[in-house]
Amino acid sequence: MIEDKNPQRTPLSELGEFKLIEHLTEHFTVTQKSTVKSIGDDAAVLNFDKKQIVVSTDLLVEGVHFDLTYAPLKHLGYKAVVVNLSDIYAMNAMATQVTVSIAVSNRFPLEALEELYAGITMAAKYYNVDVVGGDTTSSTSGLIISVTAIGEVEQGQEVLRSGAKPNDLLVLTGDIGGAYMGLQVLEREKQVFKVNPQNQPDLSMYTYIIERQLKPEARKDIVELLKELDVKPTSMIDVSDGLSSEVIHLCKQSKVGVDVYENKIPLDPQVIATCEEFNIDSTTIALSGGEDYELLMTISQEDFPKIKGNPNLTIIGYMTDEDRGMHLVTRGEEKIPIIAKGWNALTDDPA
Ligand code: ADP
Ligand code: MG
Repeated sequence: MIEDKNPQRTPLSELGEFKLIEHLTEHFTVTQKSTVKSIGDDAAVLNFDKKQIVVSTDLLVEGVHFDLTYAPLKHLGYKAVVVNLSDIYAMNAMATQVTVSIAVSNRFPLEALEELYAGITMAAKYYNVDVVGGDTTSSTSGLIISVTAIGEVEQGQEVLRSGAKPNDLLVLTGDIGGAYMGLQVLEREKQVFKVNPQNQPDLSMYTYIIERQLKPEARKDIVELLKELDVKPTSMIDVSDGLSSEVIHLCKQSKVGVDVYENKIPLDPQVIATCEEFNIDSTTIALSGGEDYELLMTISQEDFPKIKGNPNLTIIGYMTDEDRGMHLVTRGEEKIPIIAKGWNALTDDPA
C-alpha cells in the first residue's frame, strides 16, 4: 500500500554494525541540561540535581504491535518514541531523554532504517528529548524496537495511579476511539489491496482517525497546562489500552469505585461516523479501543473552578466509595458494570 519512495537499497552488510550506528545517530543533538554525555561512550551520563527521575520502557514487535504493510517506517519511529513519552507525562513528569534499541533483519536496507530514524528524530525534536543511546543488533525475522524514556519531576509532584479519592472528578483529555477505528480502516484497505493491488483507496474521510493510529501524539501540553492551572491530579494514567481498563487500574490501585457517564465520553465525529459504517457501538470502541494516548486523571472537587470550561479537559464521571463498584451510566440511565474489555471483548490486544 505504501509507495516505495526510496528505490535505492543499500544492504546493511555493506556498512557493518559500527558504521551503521554512526550513520543512524550522527544527526542527534543534545538540548537537555541534564544530558552530560550522550551517544558514543559505554553509557550515557545524566545529571538531574535534586529532581526525581522517571523511567519507562516499551517493546514493539513487528507482526504483533505494528504491520509494515500500512505503517510507514517514519511514522513507526515517531510512534515508538511517542508511546513511551506518554508514560512519562502520565506521571506528571517532563520527558528529557530516550534510548532506542533495534533488532533488524537483513530484509531491511539502510534506507529503511534511515526512514525509521527520521521519525525518531522528528519526535525527539518535537518533544524536546535527547536520544542518548541504544543498541543495534540483528534479528532473524522481523523488526523489533525498544524505547526507554527518561524524565524528571520535582519531589512531591509525581502523580501515581493510586491517589484517587471518592468524590474526585474523573477527567479525560482530548477524544478517544480514533486510533482503534483508524486501525479498522487500515486493516480493511489491506484486505482490499491483497485482492486488487491496483486499487487506490480514497481515505480522505478517515484522515483524523488514521493519523490517530499511525502518528499519535503524547499529551506533554497537558502536563504544562496542569502546572499553569496549578492543579495536581490525585491520580493519572495514559489511555493506551482503552478507557475501561485504565479506569479499572485507577480504581483498583486507589481503592475507589467510579461512575462513568456514557454521554460525557468525548468522541470525534469521524469516530462516530466510522463506527456507524462498521456497525460497531462507539461506546464499546471508546471503552475497549486503545492506543489513543490521552491522559485520564482524577481531580479533587476543590480544583473544579480551575478546570471548569477548559476545552482540553472533559469531566466524564465521579469516583465513589470502593464498595459502590465501577459502573458505566448509560444514556438510558442504566448502570452497567465496567469490565476489563468493555462489554464485548474485542480482538486480542497485545499491548
Ligand atoms: P556497546 O558495545 O557498549 O553496546 P555500541 O557499539 O552498541 O556499544 O554503541 C555505541 C554507542 O552508540 C553507545 O553510546 C550506544 O548507546 C549508541 N547506540 C547503539 N545503537 C544505537 C541505536 N540503535 N540508537 C541510538 N544509539 C545507539
Ligand atoms: Mg551495543
